[in-house]
Amino acid sequence: MSDLRELYQEVILDHSRRPRNAGRPDSANHQAQGDNPLCGDRIMIYLTVDDGVVKDIGFDGRGCAISMASASLMTEAVKGKTLEQASEIFARFHALVTGEEAVEEEALDKLVVFSGVRDFPVRVKCATLPWHTLAAAMNRATELVTTE
Ligand code: ZN
Repeated sequence: MSDLRELYQEVILDHSRRPRNAGRPDSANHQAQGDNPLCGDRIMIYLTVDDGVVKDIGFDGRGCAISMASASLMTEAVKGKTLEQASEIFARFHALVTGEEAVEEEALDKLVVFSGVRDFPVRVKCATLPWHTLAAAMNRATELVTTE
């Protein structure tokens, strides 16, 4: 189990240091900003939504390793998915990191690396900030999202 934890930690560090899908896609037509004042994480999520599908996604932000890695892995997880599928992944991810309900970890694919977050309640907001911001962007909201 500790080997697995170590592997998960490595994936998180890798994504925080070399974020995937960084920056705003030229074709972006949805966006939202998220703010986690508790930790100082700030993020902008950009989406290109076409025919109910997330054709492209990117983000800008600064914050702790957990929030940046979560944003990076989230972009990989939802790119090419329908808005409905993206919402379903968010629901599963939320259940995983809060530990509030049982979740099929296999269905989460790489996102399972955040399973350890549930042991650190203060980090749950860091991990979920990109997802709450994604939800706001999908709804075309332009207002600031805050975890407070
Ligand atoms: Zn944070």
